[in-house]
Amino acid sequence: MTDCIFCKIIAGDIPSSKVYEDDKIFAFKDINPKASVHVLVIPKTHIDSLDHLDHGQQDLMGYMTLKLPEIARSQGLNNGFRTIINTGPDGGQEVGHLHFHILGGSKIPGFN
Ligand code: AMP
Ligand code: ZN
Repeated sequence: MTDCIFCKIIAGDIPSSKVYEDDKIFAFKDINPKASVHVLVIPKTHIDSLDHLDHGQQDLMGYMTLKLPEIARSQGLNNGFRTIINTGPDGGQEVGHLHFHILGGSKIPGFN
């Protein structure tokens, strides 16, 4: 039994507000949104982080990336969005299952 909360969300053992699912990926609303729209997109297979990818996962990463605009549009983000991947402790990663953040809904501040 995995201790990973995102694997539990995929399995339905922890409830979530799902916005998209197919055989490879799962997308759901962030429980603590940092923008009016804040969605997390995760692979169904457990990958710890970007630091743990291997070359066999190139197709999956390409697939996820291509799905991001589609998922963003499904949430009404028709004028752009921000995508973030946090990696490791210094990158601010809190959940050890690779995830893309999609943020938007209004113009969000820049980084600098
Ligand atoms: P990160 O800091 O990049 O690892 O992001 C983890 C994100 O997961 C945070 O934005 C949390 O608000 C979100 N999160 C944690 N637990 C849950 C949950 N059970 N359902 C939805 N989002 C969650
Ligand atoms: Zn996991």
